[in-house]
Amino acid sequence: MAGLCIAVFAVICLRMIWLIGRISRQSLELKENDANLRYMAFHDELTGLANRELLHDRVEQALASITRSGRLIALCMGDLDGFKTINDTLGHHVGDTMLVKVGALLESIVRPGDTVARLGGDEFAILMVDVENPTAAVEFAGRIVSVLHDAVEFEGNQAGISISVGVAFADSATPVEQVISEADAAMYEAKANGKNRVDVFQSSMRARLFKRLELTSGFRGSLERSEFFLSFQPIFSLGDRRLRGFEALVRWHHPTIGLVAPLDFIPIAEETGFIVPLGRWILLAACEQLAAWTALSNEPLTVAVNLSRRQLASPLLVDNIRTALALTAVHPLQLVLEVTESVLMENPEQAASALTELRALGIRIAVDDFGTGFSSLSYLQRFPVDVLKIDKSFVDPLNESEPASSALVTSIIGLAHSLSLEVVAEGIEREDQFERLIELGCDYGQGYLMARPLDREKSEALVESYQGSSAVP
Ligand code: C2E
Ligand code: MG
Ligand code: MG
Repeated sequence: MAGLCIAVFAVICLRMIWLIGRISRQSLELKENDANLRYMAFHDELTGLANRELLHDRVEQALASITRSGRLIALCMGDLDGFKTINDTLGHHVGDTMLVKVGALLESIVRPGDTVARLGGDEFAILMVDVENPTAAVEFAGRIVSVLHDAVEFEGNQAGISISVGVAFADSATPVEQVISEADAAMYEAKANGKNRVDVFQSSMRARLFKRLELTSGFRGSLERSEFFLSFQPIFSLGDRRLRGFEALVRWHHPTIGLVAPLDFIPIAEETGFIVPLGRWILLAACEQLAAWTALSNEPLTVAVNLSRRQLASPLLVDNIRTALALTAVHPLQLVLEVTESVLMENPEQAASALTELRALGIRIAVDDFGTGFSSLSYLQRFPVDVLKIDKSFVDPLNESEPASSALVTSIIGLAHSLSLEVVAEGIEREDQFERLIELGCDYGQGYLMARPLDREKSEALVESYQGSSAVP
């Protein structure tokens, strides 16, 4: 009996020990799970960096602690330049790898106690606590730019990667949201000022940020409300002064701001991706107008349409163009696509393959703003190009009485002709420039001297006035 009692007691004891072990294991697992969940809520999954929520917390803590020290905090907001193009052209896995590398690089240069965060997409932030003076923080922001720029080449992207950084400072009286939005505004300013650089927040930037937000939100539904329209600037053959065609230039009639110039909204449309549907609309509208001119004219006029970076990278481009040509019965030879030199140079392989595909449709390609980038004419041989547009800045100094002023234009025209390219001079404003360009053998020209961009009716009237005569405007 006693033996049995001892045995039962022993079994109960063992069972209890087992149960206690299991419960403590489970509570450990629960704790671990809890920690995991907390980690996930405050960190970016891809890079393991702090996320927006954690950054927000850290900024709040830092602001609270400087009340005592009287020092500053600095927030650097950085956005990778051209990252969307990389993602669109090289694929998301390359983009993701790049984001992880950038995160690691940033982590490697900050001081202990500072926070590196990824705020989503290609946007990073660095919180610097306990900043002695603004100059040191700005210098550090400069280091971010140079470190990324010097970093290892990224797969298929020899240009490496660059970042635009905005810096804002705060003392204990500054609300968290304000520091973040000011660093953001400074970052947009760095983008607008040419990228791959640092800008420090100034109060004047706030107004521009507001305008930017107004434009971005204004894109929604704008195409449906028909807020965009095209202007057409005539292009003339300089030798015989005949009308060659037009360049289509987009304008936005914003419901509250009024007329917005393309230089103000195209870069934002580009960043937000709105350029893709807008570009599709522009192409179709330009081809429709070309069909209307063609009905009024015996001559094969041309229309030139500007393509932005994102459009050229879009896999939809060729289809959109095919559709526009088919819907309007325009001959491909009458359509010219203008691409700026900087777009070509940013991603030469991708640009060359997109242009080759477009050329195969029979469309002609023009290099816009030639001379403003850093390319050489020999580099241009790599691209299937038909037309070269000399930038206005080279046309401005042209002067009949001073031969030195035309040295650059002379060599551009000579080399372009040796590559069998047509040359168009942009921004001709004076008679003496016009005469000099004829002497230099420039083929075509456009500018306020001959005509400003015209609305639809005026462009059609111009086409009609050219019928049966070689009239001079
Ligand atoms: P761009 O393609 O180089 O266009 C020429 C710009 O110079 C036009 O300004 C035109 O109005 C202006 N211009 C022409 N002749 C003269 C002149 O004699 N003197 C002066 N001072 N300016 C002259 P706009 O229309 O403001 O366009 C500016 C830029 O915006 C364009 O430069 C182009 O890069 C971009 N853009 C315009 N329309 C479109 C578009 O439909 N799509 C895209 N992606 N970009 C566009
Ligand atoms: Mg152009
Ligand atoms: Mg141009």
